[in-house]
Amino acid sequence: MIGSKTTMVGLFGRPVAHSLSPLMHNAAFEYQQLPFAYAAFEIQNDQVKEAVEAIRALGMRGVNVTIPHKVAVMPYLDRIDPLAERIGAVNTIVNEQGELIGYNTDGAGFVRSLVEETEIELRDLTITMLGAGGAARAVACTLAEAGVQKINIVNRSLGRAETLASFLSPMVAVEVLPFTQAKEAVAESSLLINTTSIGMFPHMEEMPVESECLRQDLIVSDLIYNPLETKLIQQAKERGAVHHSGVGMFINQGALAYELWTGQAAPVNKMREIVLQHLQQGGN
Ligand code: NAP
Repeated sequence: MIGSKTTMVGLFGRPVAHSLSPLMHNAAFEYQQLPFAYAAFEIQNDQVKEAVEAIRALGMRGVNVTIPHKVAVMPYLDRIDPLAERIGAVNTIVNEQGELIGYNTDGAGFVRSLVEETEIELRDLTITMLGAGGAARAVACTLAEAGVQKINIVNRSLGRAETLASFLSPMVAVEVLPFTQAKEAVAESSLLINTTSIGMFPHMEEMPVESECLRQDLIVSDLIYNPLETKLIQQAKERGAVHHSGVGMFINQGALAYELWTGQAAPVNKMREIVLQHLQQGGN
């Protein structure tokens, strides 16, 4: 129950009304009987500085940051964790007695859930990643740090893919390809990751690559979790490929933020249960 000793955390973004983070975090706090509460705050672009300062002024323990403010919050923080610095975006802020520290748990959340769910060995792997946006950058940077051998970046806008490739190239071998060469890129890969929004609600009939690309020995991962099973994941399943949906990343990026705020292991199973329950009921 919220009371005078409740520690506040929350979400800064725009829009935020659709977010499952308040549901997931509040269920976890309640489950572990922690005196925390999580609220969603819709922040206008010209109010980012004031919003970050409010974390300190109100004595909040921290916030998650989502689109479109993950980069915009950075100049107003006191310190940025090295991984978030390399990714160039912050999705979690922690207030350590007035010092605001920025972290990025997106990439680590993705890798933690991918490894747990598929038992994949990342070292020396060749990967094809569809997309070159913010999520792609966090995922690719974390995969590069995990020791993968090569990342093929397939993107609609080649300029954006080139920018990501030049950022990654000191860490890992990278190749940029257009969608017309996706088939060849996937053929030399053991893992395919969709980080584009192709196939997301309400465009659930869309597929980012032809289903012929999906082989039994390919691991197929989709960052999208609404729907829970995208057409890409359905096709991968039909072809006998190991598959991994975006819900694990969502839960684990939240769990890592929870752990930073509370200093306690997150009740990941409880968080998964509440999110799946909501998504299976057709919530979006
Ligand atoms: P973003 O920065 O806007 O990037 C979007 C990416 O999708 C870009 O590569 C864009 O290509 C591509 N794209 C969008 N529409 C396309 C289309 N019709 N055809 C071809 N390419 C298209 O967004 P983001 O933050 O990276 O998010 C990307 C996806 O990841 C979303 O579906 C989001 O829901 C998901 N995500 C999931 C989690 C999770 O926890 N599971 C976390 C973050 C994001 P261009 O560069 O050519 O525009």
